[in-house]
Amino acid sequence: MPLALRALPAFADNYIWLLHDGEHALVVDPGDADPVSEALASLGLQLGAILATHHHRDHVGGIAGLLERHPGTPVYGPAGETIPGRSVALSGGELLQIPQPAVALEVLSTPGHTLGHVSYYGAGYLFCGDTLFGCGCGRLFEGTPAQMFASLEDLARLPDDTLVCCAHEYTMDNLRFALTVDAANPALAARWEATLELRRRGRPSLPSTLGQEKATNPFLRCATPALRASAVRRGAGADAQAVEIFAAIRKAKDTFRV
Ligand code: ZN
Ligand code: FE
Repeated sequence: MPLALRALPAFADNYIWLLHDGEHALVVDPGDADPVSEALASLGLQLGAILATHHHRDHVGGIAGLLERHPGTPVYGPAGETIPGRSVALSGGELLQIPQPAVALEVLSTPGHTLGHVSYYGAGYLFCGDTLFGCGCGRLFEGTPAQMFASLEDLARLPDDTLVCCAHEYTMDNLRFALTVDAANPALAARWEATLELRRRGRPSLPSTLGQEKATNPFLRCATPALRASAVRRGAGADAQAVEIFAAIRKAKDTFRV
């Protein structure tokens, strides 16, 4: 059976991503064990691997519980961070050959939200944790704007049809902000309508595609005249580099209230 993807809702707005082949599943960022256990039971799957993007509790809080129920499951996570039960320490650049489900995943170092943050890319899926969100990006808790900007540039080089699996359902809130800095972008207006409809029906807004993010996500559009103008209105110099535009837009988002 080809790989299939599920978004398991957790807490208020997290998604735990589950990728399976009909027999075995891997999960990404299990902040809570229970939604994973329920999905494994209802789909009749064995747990084959646990992947963590970074150390925040809403991403790793369920790992210990899953290891109790599924002892010996390999746990992949960033080397420089505290990941419960981690068995494979990653720093970016590795190519993982997960045996069950059989999938090859590239590990990308994506610092910014945290310093050790990694993302996983393979089989057309990108698991990017709290680095890239639907129409947004993660807060800079540990890293610098330059680090996050470079991380996003690395992700933006992946193919446009990459399925972007973010760890939070933040897309509507991010769209509200994006419309204040890229108001004349028709793709943004279309995404607003489409996302509103999905959320009305209780459906996840994710995964998106990387092409869609490149067309609508202000943090991937810092080189456009529209984002430059918005950054200049918020204090950036008229000759600002893209990274400075990113920093100004990220700062504006930090204090944005709907
Ligand atoms: Zn986080
Ligand atoms: Fe998070």
